Amino acid sequence: MGNGKKRIAIFACKNIKGISCVGGCLKCFKGISERAGEYERWKDYDLEVAGMDDCGGCPGVLMPKVALMKDMARLYDRDFEAIHLGTCIVKAVQTAKCPIDLETIKGKLEAKFNAEVVLGTHPY
Ligand code: SF4
Repeated sequence: MGNGKKRIAIFACKNIKGISCVGGCLKCFKGISERAGEYERWKDYDLEVAGMDDCGGCPGVLMPKVALMKDMARLYDRDFEAIHLGTCIVKAVQTAKCPIDLETIKGKLEAKFNAEVVLGTHPY
């Protein structure tokens, strides 16, 4: 694909992952394969997933979870340039009183890790 490689990390809602979102994050892998939903932005890239993890559980500890994945990714020469916060997290915020403030955490993650943060993943 035209623009080269893009490596991403994906973070999910720990409460929803593997329950309402199909075991094994199948919806995310389908979305990546079809470049659907928030993955559409990578349609001109050869997309690689460095890792998938969850928020750590309520009230959400995304900063240390992302820091840990960054450290591990660098250790294994698999650093990523973008972070997707799953559609599951977005839905949890919108419908299930998830305490994560999406815009605030997006700003903090972008500032600390110098990575683009995308709110959402698959559209299913
Ligand atoms: S903090 Fe939000 S995203 Fe994390 S488990 Fe709780 S509801 Fe899900």
